[in-house]
This record gives sequence, C-alpha cells and structure tokens, in this order.
Amino acid sequence: MIQTEEMNQLKSEALADVSQASDEKALQDVKVKYLGKKGSVSGLMKQMKDLSNEEKPKFGQAVNEVRQAIEQAIAERKKVLEQERLNKQLEEETIDVTLPSRQIKQGAAHPLTRTIQEIEDLFLGLGYEIVNGYEVEQDYYNFEALNLPKSHPARDMQDTFYITEETLMRTHTSPVQARTLEKRNGQGPVKIICPGKVYRRDSDDATHSHQFTQIEGLVVAENIKMSDLKGTLELVAKKLFGEEREIRLRPSYFPFTEPSVEVDVSCFKCGGKGCNVCKGSGWIEILGAGMVHPNVLEMAGFDSSKYTGFAFGMGPDRIAMLKYGIEDIRYFYTNDVRFLDQFKAVEDRGEA
Ligand SMILES: [Zn+2]
Repeated sequence: MIQTEEMNQLKSEALADVSQASDEKALQDVKVKYLGKKGSVSGLMKQMKDLSNEEKPKFGQAVNEVRQAIEQAIAERKKVLEQERLNKQLEEETIDVTLPSRQIKQGAAHPLTRTIQEIEDLFLGLGYEIVNGYEVEQDYYNFEALNLPKSHPARDMQDTFYITEETLMRTHTSPVQARTLEKRNGQGPVKIICPGKVYRRDSDDATHSHQFTQIEGLVVAENIKMSDLKGTLELVAKKLFGEEREIRLRPSYFPFTEPSVEVDVSCFKCGGKGCNVCKGSGWIEILGAGMVHPNVLEMAGFDSSKYTGFAFGMGPDRIAMLKYGIEDIRYFYTNDVRFLDQFKAVEDRGEA
C-alpha cells in the first residue's frame, strides 16, 4: 500500500479539524473541505493518473482508507455535537411548573337564548311546531293581515323602523302567524310558536330596547275556547316561575285578538303578599293573549265559522329579567363579559 507523507498529513489535519468543529455547521464545513467534490481527498485522487497501473489500486485503496477515517471521525463528532445541542435545548426549555397557566375562557349560553330554549322545550312537549320568520317583513304581514290596516290608530303603539313604504323591521313575531295561516290554505289544525328578534323605534333605557325578543304562540283548530288558552298559559307560568304560581287575566286590547287579555302571574318572590319585584301588587304582568280575531282568520283563508283559535305573545327579555333579577334590558345586547360570565355560573350550578 502506498501511504504518502501527504496522505498522512491530510488525514491528521482533517481529524484535528473534525475534533475542533464546535457545532454542526462547522462540522459540515469540514466535511465539504475534505470530502466534497472539490475537497482535499478528491484532490489526492487526481494524482492517480501519474501512477503505474500496478500502483493505482494500492494508491486508491490508501486514499479510501483516509476517506473512511475522516468519514468515521465526522460521524462520531456529529453524534457528540447533536447530543450537546439536545442537552442545551433541554436545559433552556425546562418547564417551570410554578408559572401561572394561560386562562382558557369557556363560553355559555346567553341568558336570553337559554330562556327561549326553555320555552321552546315546553311547547315542543305540548306538540307545538317551532316556526321561524323574517326579521325584514312586508307591511302586509306585519300589520294588514293582522287586522291593522294602514289607517289603524294602533299602528302608533308600535313605532316602526321602515325600510321602504312597504318593507320594515318586524315589530312583533305575529307576521309568522299570518304567513303560516296563509300557507295552510284554510286547513287546521295549526299549533305553532314563533321565537325571534323584533324591532321598534324606542328610546333605549333600563326597560326599553329598540331590539328585543318575542315568542308568539298560535293555535287554530275547531272548538278552541278561551279556557284552552287559560289552561295553556297556566302551564307556562308554572313551568317558568314555579309550581305554586297562579295566573289572572285582565281585559285588554290588541287588534288581532278578540277578546284580548293581559296575563299576570302571582309574584314568585313574595308569593302574592307584595314586594319590590311585583311593586307591591302581588302580581307580575308576563304576556298578552286573546282569541284570534275572525278577520285575521278570514284574511288568511280560514272559515271563521268553523275554526277558532288563540294567540299569545311573550317577551323572553322580560321573563329572563324577572327570573334572574336583571335590572337593565340593555345588558342583554351590550355583550359585557362580566355580565354574561355570571350566567355561566348559573349553568354550572344547574339552576337553569
Ligand atoms: Zn312580590
């Protein structure tokens, strides 16, 4: 084997460089310097052309041994450097388990959503269908089909956001009734509730908002009587405010029902003795209702001599305010997390 002085020199220089490479990048540079295409070992191979055929294999073998020695040294050094890097990294990235963790906020159902769902569950259990309608409505379905022609003075009771002369933001969920009745083509029975947002031109204060929610209920069939309405509302009051609750009906006026009533529930806080919630009266007004006006049935194509019905409208905002002791309706719509978080706690305790 031909082992030239030059080869030995090269090998010991290379091994020294390898052992001094302080990181993986430096080691890579050493590898290129000695083993790369233009590296020193390749340079040695070029000397082969000046040798005799007999010397060539031996020379080649000697160069290969140098190459293998360098390769092996590099591989070993690489392992050492990798381990060093890993150790350093582990040391730097040690987890301090005493540090406070990042808080993950968990949401909960909005108090209004929860109240609406509770009411929906009750009516689904009674065999009602839930029907949704349009928040942007035609004047016809919002007013005219509900016995409120253009000149009707009661239109003023519901100051309206008009978009054009004939389209508006619905002022109540009643247009869903009108549309549903129209679709049924004079065929009962109809048994629906319609939850949703409604809009009125109002100056916002603690008890008024230009946007709020409503749930409308409608039953139309043969032989529906006022006592059916009363029985249904009693059930609602008990379900929402407690088994001991009673209701009372007071005469009222709505254009789309005749007769019309305001419905009060006995105070759930004082039981009827009088307190700040019921303002001393022992009763709390919770909804308006009545027997569907024959005009409304006829306009939708129902024979009012055959069919009768009742309708009621309640405000989930007001119900939620009463149930949870919320003093300002605006809290529902301003999305203050400090307000909403409190209902997370209610949910956790399983109170709602
Ligand atoms: Zn009371």
